[in-house]
Amino acid sequence: MSRILIVIVIFIVIYLLLRYYRKQMPKKDVLGEDTSKHRENMVRCAHCGVHLPKGESIMVDHKHYCSEVHRRAHIDEPE
Ligand SMILES: [Zn+2]
Repeated sequence: MSRILIVIVIFIVIYLLLRYYRKQMPKKDVLGEDTSKHRENMVRCAHCGVHLPKGESIMVDHKHYCSEVHRRAHIDEPE
């Protein structure tokens, strides 16, 4: 019975160590992804060409606009 407990404790320790190392390792990768994603998230206004974060842009038909005014202006007179 005590052997089983020892085996269980060893497995728990291995599990915790793996979790600890996994937590530490991907942090750098996540940070790297974040910076690259941040760059990808910059979009260009289809009307005036200004660059702005994707989250702040207005997206219509896969085109991004910096403001509602430019979205309307671009749709009223395309290209
Ligand atoms: Zn614009």
